[in-house]
Amino acid sequence: MRSDPSRRRRGARLFAVYAAASLIPVAALGALLAVSYRADATARGMAEARSQAALLADDIVVPAVGQVPLRGALRAGTQTVLRNAFDLAKDDGRLLRLRLRDVTGVVVWSDDGSGVSSAKPDDEVLDALHGETVSTLTHLNSDSDDVGPVGPRVVEIYRPVAESADGTVIGVLEMYVPYAPIATDVNAGLHQMYALLAVGLGALWLVLAFISASTTKRLRKQSQRLQYLVHYDEASGLLNRVGFTDAVDRRLAADPEHPPAIAFVNVCRFRDINEALGRLSGDEVLLQVGRRLVTTAGDSAVVGRLGGDEFGVADFSPVGDDLATWAATLQDAVAQPIGAAGVPVLVEVAVGYDRGAPGQPTEELLNRADAAVSLAKCAVDRRAGYDCAGHADASSLSLMARLRDSISAGDLELHYQPKTSLDDGRVVSVEALVRWRVGEKLLMPQAFLPSVEQTALIHPLTDWVAREALRQLVAWGPAADGVDVAINVSARNLSDPRFADRLLRIVAASGVEARRLTVEITETALLVDPDAARESLQALHDAGMAVSIDDFGQGQTSLSYLASLPVDELKVDRAFVSRVCVDPMHDAIVRSVVQLGHSLGLRVVAEGIEDEPTIERLAYLGADVGQGYFIARPMHASAFVGWQAAYAQSRLRVVG
Ligand code: C2E
Ligand code: MG
Ligand code: MG
Repeated sequence: MRSDPSRRRRGARLFAVYAAASLIPVAALGALLAVSYRADATARGMAEARSQAALLADDIVVPAVGQVPLRGALRAGTQTVLRNAFDLAKDDGRLLRLRLRDVTGVVVWSDDGSGVSSAKPDDEVLDALHGETVSTLTHLNSDSDDVGPVGPRVVEIYRPVAESADGTVIGVLEMYVPYAPIATDVNAGLHQMYALLAVGLGALWLVLAFISASTTKRLRKQSQRLQYLVHYDEASGLLNRVGFTDAVDRRLAADPEHPPAIAFVNVCRFRDINEALGRLSGDEVLLQVGRRLVTTAGDSAVVGRLGGDEFGVADFSPVGDDLATWAATLQDAVAQPIGAAGVPVLVEVAVGYDRGAPGQPTEELLNRADAAVSLAKCAVDRRAGYDCAGHADASSLSLMARLRDSISAGDLELHYQPKTSLDDGRVVSVEALVRWRVGEKLLMPQAFLPSVEQTALIHPLTDWVAREALRQLVAWGPAADGVDVAINVSARNLSDPRFADRLLRIVAASGVEARRLTVEITETALLVDPDAARESLQALHDAGMAVSIDDFGQGQTSLSYLASLPVDELKVDRAFVSRVCVDPMHDAIVRSVVQLGHSLGLRVVAEGIEDEPTIERLAYLGADVGQGYFIARPMHASAFVGWQAAYAQSRLRVVG
């Protein structure tokens, strides 16, 4: 995951904006606190001035004027006391002006003779006469009845002079306390407070900025990671489906005239690899497959991991017309064993491919490669190109519709795999295995049979297989003397009460003796509807056909059910046979199945023999018949006679 410089710059810009924006509330908070501190300090200064006034009134004025309400001019002695007190306070800088008013609010004494003539007392005077101390911050000479220029800032205080015994107001003291010394005190405290506030708020802002910076960084990382995961697959480091589609989209938009060759690459049996070696090894396999595809596809290709076991390759270089060869190159790239968990793993991939047309939307291109890979998985060579006529739509419904036509159109084929006696090597039978030709491709049964078995289409299909296998047996003529034919039937066939009758009619029509036809039914299919299966098989068996239980060992048939069936043959499942030489447990299982079969009077066939040690071991264990790639792969009918001749020759050489 790379860190993009432009994204980093955007992050830094975002942080700067946040830092600037967060400064505004912090500054507003600072301003609010400063205003509130200043108001508080001023209030304290005013309180200080009021307490000075209280001192003057209670300690000097009241004793001087006596305890009677003031009315009219003062006595000379009282005036002297007031004068001395004022002078003292003025010299100390604590007072600028002092007036004494009588109970009517009229000035009866002032230090400078001012205010004596004013007729009507102010509201503040009246409030003070009612016992309330009133103080305001103002300027000297700013009252309406003052004369002279406006003076410095002062605290103007109206203080009731109260007779001490009962609190009766006997006059009002009007004082003007200079505000400058108070302001100096207030400001000195305030400056210190402002400094502390600035440091505190600055620290707060820094902490907030730091938290926001680290949060922003974390969020940015998370968002980068999410961005990455939107487009990339973590396990392989390749583009994921979204990233792959985007990348192809962008390249196509830049150059719509040159669409890419596109391939979907599917790792076959990946689930088995995962289960056998564990998820970590499975991941390692995917990683290696991805790397090899990247190396092989080259710089001009876009490679992505589209899902669990599926990769996409879009090659924008001129790949040429032979896309099949290009697809084979991709297959070869992963053909070499991949080391996972110290074990070399052979990986096979199915490749579905197509070439885009100019102007074709990316989505359509990908859908076509997707359809192609579905078919490639079932193709013999695991490759399939998208072919409009053949398999534009791989959905099972349309597949079924086409298969119905294919049966009548002759697009189904049977391949035949010989079964030979393990005693003397004679070819005793051939198993007919169905294939479907779709366009250029030959589809294996697992590509379509599971869907067919879900529908009634399985009946015409099995009928066709039986007719064709019997026809072929006749067509081989003397070459097939002594050779029987086996067909596979599905659970659904056996559940159909008319099946046995139909098959008997087909056999009768073919002219082949019923005893030359073996019906193979898988053990698991038997269990779908055991009673119906028994009935159908009984009818076939009664008519002389042989009944074989296929893939024996995979299901869970109870021995009593097995004994109740009209069975002639057991085919030991390939999974046991293939490991008989490497796994003592499998060896023991095969030995037991052979004994069981023989005890029940059945012929035992070992299917899936791939090498000489296995065939020898099975002969030793007493299996009667063998089938597998070692003897012969399923082959086209036309190849059978030639194969049989060659096989007879090689047997003669061995015996000779
Ligand atoms: P099956 O009846 O067990 O057939 C044997 C399958 O194992 C065949 O696969 C055959 O090609 C494969 N095989 C044989 N020897 C070996 C070997 O040595 N090694 C390996 N790895 N494989 C071997 P195929 O032809 O793909 O058929 C798969 C299955 O499809 C059959 O398994 C059978 O169950 C079913 N099938 C095939 N044809 C028909 C049909 O006409 N009707 C029905 N209902 N099922 C069919
Ligand atoms: Mg079979
Ligand atoms: Mg089988």
